[in-house]
Amino acid sequence: MHLKQLSDLTGVAGYEHRIRKYIKEKLESKVTKIETDPLGNLICYKKGKKNNLRVLLAAHMDEVGFIINKINKNGFLGFTPSGGIDPRVLPAKRVLVGNKEIPGVIHWAPPHLKENSDQSLPKFSSLVIDIGASSDKQAKQKVKVGEFAVFDTKFSHFSKNIIKGKAFDDRAGCSLLMDLLEDKTNYSFELAVVFSVQEEVGLRGAAVLGEKIDPKFSLIVEGTAAADFPGEPDQDISTSPHLGGGPVITLTDRSTIVDRRLINALVETAKKNKIKYQFKQPNIGGTDAGRIHKSRAGIPSAILSVPARYIHSPVSLSYLSDYKDTYKLIKLSLVNMLKAIS
Ligand SMILES: [Zn+2]
Repeated sequence: MHLKQLSDLTGVAGYEHRIRKYIKEKLESKVTKIETDPLGNLICYKKGKKNNLRVLLAAHMDEVGFIINKINKNGFLGFTPSGGIDPRVLPAKRVLVGNKEIPGVIHWAPPHLKENSDQSLPKFSSLVIDIGASSDKQAKQKVKVGEFAVFDTKFSHFSKNIIKGKAFDDRAGCSLLMDLLEDKTNYSFELAVVFSVQEEVGLRGAAVLGEKIDPKFSLIVEGTAAADFPGEPDQDISTSPHLGGGPVITLTDRSTIVDRRLINALVETAKKNKIKYQFKQPNIGGTDAGRIHKSRAGIPSAILSVPARYIHSPVSLSYLSDYKDTYKLIKLSLVNMLKAIS
């Protein structure tokens, strides 16, 4: 499992180079061929017994974060979001800026000060990052306009089974697909495993994958929003994705109506192997499947996810047991999915 290392690495859409470098170094000796396409997608091929049959698996490397768009006279950094972030989670949060990982904190006044009397919700345009510089000249020695920033959260364990980090959406998917390529199973088909770019800003990297890879079907592996939050004491969370409920199978989201044959193959494989599973709340979010299933003459696509609380914020919280169950279900269902659409 590479989730700790991947979660601690930094990279927003368009700046995935560190994640790509890490994955490439680890997998180079484990796959038949590895290449980076012109957009930055890292594509790993692993030959099977029948190489005319190809299956595409994908997870995105980018995380939500910020692009520095201004250095103010007083040394504070202005920024715009990269990906979907609720500005209410930002005040007083620690961030890392640029390739040098300059530590910073998003400015927010304590309750004692009159600056705090404005009760309106924070806006991106009025928030700034404080890197401790006292002038624009000092700030410019460390940071350039156009550099990215991400939340500063180190991976750790709350307990043996509960893990905390950042960007489990979708470094959990990246780690699972690295595990799959490191596994020695020889499939009857060729695996094309893609670590994609620019998902969080509109599924952009995935737009070229169907054309290039021409797979029989695709499986997108994600970290998705767990919705098991404390609500009414008698609230039934059993129908929402929750930690400990196993891999999350998407029925529909805002980008895809998942191929029913592939859903059935996932569900039947889970049942047969006594792997827990759950369904995603319909019609929220979108994934690379949204682009891939509409490419070429149409590519049947499915989405399987590890549930994580608080995604698109400084912290992701997941269960290792869900991660392991997701891995089992991916591995055991690939053959059944191929059969289901043949
Ligand atoms: Zn994602």
